[in-house]
Amino acid sequence: MEIVCLDLEGVLIPEIWIGVAERTGVESLKATTRDIPDYDQLMKQRLRIMDTHKLGISDVKEVIRSLEPLDGAISFLENLRKDFQVIILSDTFYEFAEPFMMKLSLPTLFCHNLEINQNGRIIDYHLRLKDHKRKAVESLKNLNFTVYAAGDSYNDTSMLEAADRGILFKAPDNVKNEFPQFPFVDSYKLLRQEIDRLHPPSL
Ligand SMILES: [Mg+2]
Repeated sequence: MEIVCLDLEGVLIPEIWIGVAERTGVESLKATTRDIPDYDQLMKQRLRIMDTHKLGISDVKEVIRSLEPLDGAISFLENLRKDFQVIILSDTFYEFAEPFMMKLSLPTLFCHNLEINQNGRIIDYHLRLKDHKRKAVESLKNLNFTVYAAGDSYNDTSMLEAADRGILFKAPDNVKNEFPQFPFVDSYKLLRQEIDRLHPPSL
């Protein structure tokens, strides 16, 4: 039995924080895990910047509702789910992801939570589990699943390492160069081919 684990941002949906930076005009919110590999450092920086600019959860949610999944993502995922069980492993937050999950026909999502005060300010974030992508893949393997995983960024590489087959999808050059052990593809068609190459769908 096979399971496909996919990263969310940069694979199925745009980078949420880049969208927020563009729509709010706060350029410094554009940094992502592609730029700052230390996730805690990155998140603390984001929360500090949001506080400085008096941006709350409602501002972010408004932006997120206006964003759409990446071109081709909906049909790629729909077709993939016909042949495989799929789990989305993301370092985003349930509070952010909800509008996208509706647009993606509610795939299973493992991610984290935000702490929001009564004024709607995001005051902290809570990782459900540190390095949860890798641990999820390892747990699935312990349950006797063969796991294929795809992601685009630094925070995906331990999950790709743990998977039976890890694939970089639309990764930037710095990630591709640092992790040459993973095959990389730049389109959903090629990603699907890479998955099927390992396990052709049943006829
Ligand atoms: Mg990503």
